[in-house]
Amino acid sequence: MGFMQRLKNGFVRLMYGRNGVDQLGMATVWTCLILDIVSMFLQRRAPVAGAVLYWAAMALWALAIFRMFSKNLYKRREENSRWMQLRWKFQSGRKSAKERHADKEHKYFTCKNCKTICRVPVGKGNVEITCPKCGAKIRGKT
Ligand SMILES: [Zn+2]
Repeated sequence: MGFMQRLKNGFVRLMYGRNGVDQLGMATVWTCLILDIVSMFLQRRAPVAGAVLYWAAMALWALAIFRMFSKNLYKRREENSRWMQLRWKFQSGRKSAKERHADKEHKYFTCKNCKTICRVPVGKGNVEITCPKCGAKIRGKT
């Protein structure tokens, strides 16, 4: 067994039963990187703000690492799904028809009343959706 293979196996064993990197984890890491870079630029002009950002980034790094190695999967998944819902709320308006088509896990319905796009997980059979914006009922098959 080569060194890389052993390293990989060791990592797999280490991560077994742990949360690992989920979408919220990725978002946290990206935020850390951005905060780090901004704080670097700020350090000369505004040392106090730079330091605050630096420590905020450090705290987020700690949070990201904690979530990654956490064994409380239930709690971490809940956090992640809350994050995904929040992201979905921001993105739903901007998502293109092509992206929606590529999404095999959800079915999209357009409200006839206000043209809001509603997303429903597939495999629920015939459903009646209430439009979140205007309250109109949409019937569809998922
Ligand atoms: Zn509507």
